[in-house]
Amino acid sequence: RSTTYDVSLRHMENHGFLILSFQDVTQLAQAGQMRRDFVANVSHELRTPLTALMGFIETLSGPARDDPKARDRFLGIMADEAGRMNRLVGDLLSLSRVEADERVRPTVQTDVTEVLRTTLRNLTPLASDNEVTLKSDYGEAPMLILGDRDQLLQVFTNLVENAIKYGGSGQQVSITTETNLRDPALRGPAVRVMVQDQGPGIDALHLPRLTERFYRADNHRSRALGGTGLGLAIVKHILNRHRGRLRIASKLGQGSTFSVILPLDSEGN
Ligand code: ADP
Repeated sequence: RSTTYDVSLRHMENHGFLILSFQDVTQLAQAGQMRRDFVANVSHELRTPLTALMGFIETLSGPARDDPKARDRFLGIMADEAGRMNRLVGDLLSLSRVEADERVRPTVQTDVTEVLRTTLRNLTPLASDNEVTLKSDYGEAPMLILGDRDQLLQVFTNLVENAIKYGGSGQQVSITTETNLRDPALRGPAVRVMVQDQGPGIDALHLPRLTERFYRADNHRSRALGGTGLGLAIVKHILNRHRGRLRIASKLGQGSTFSVILPLDSEGN
């Protein structure tokens, strides 16, 4: 890519030095463009349910006023649309919070095994609503990392929720772990948590962009399932904070595996 530099020359009169200051304007321009794209996306995502709500309010206060059947149906749709807005605002808040403390390393010991247990307990009702079997295969032994428990809970919740949602009914979602892993990119031992589904899989062309805000591999399916398009972006920022990584392996028609790799706390192990 071509890079533009903003070069300014200043003459330090007192000392007779010449100062050259370089600034990568291309990067600044890109950051500005990303911010504008983000604001445009947020506005669009909020406007869609809002427009629907306004339309139904108009219908309910006019033509459908005396039709109890239509009223019930429209109120149901309005509740869904308000729920979508609520999820979006919640995810935007989460994203801005995780971005704000992305550079602050967690200092508290957290047990990944316990966080996984809680995630699965919380998501059991969603799994049974979707006729999905959750299969977990990890022992009771603690896996200690330096981590923010709530944020880690959010990471595993987002991944398992996606696996349930996209996996489809009658399928199985399995959660497995591998501990004392040696990951070349990390200095010490690490733990890997794998969330695997038997869903439709993801085309390779989408994989590198899945963690971008609002990027969806299948726009229609994501929206139909109530997705905000922010879940994996949140996961990425939380993992950055924990020096962790996300790996996605998927093939169309063959399900997906989302793996989280986190450095173990060497002090505690
Ligand atoms: P969304 O709210 O749309 O689910 P995410 O950021 O969680 O947003 O995921 C981004 C996109 O990645 C989704 O829209 C979907 O296309 C794809 N995706 C995520 N998880 C899975 C999965 N387990 N199987 C298939 N596609 C998935």
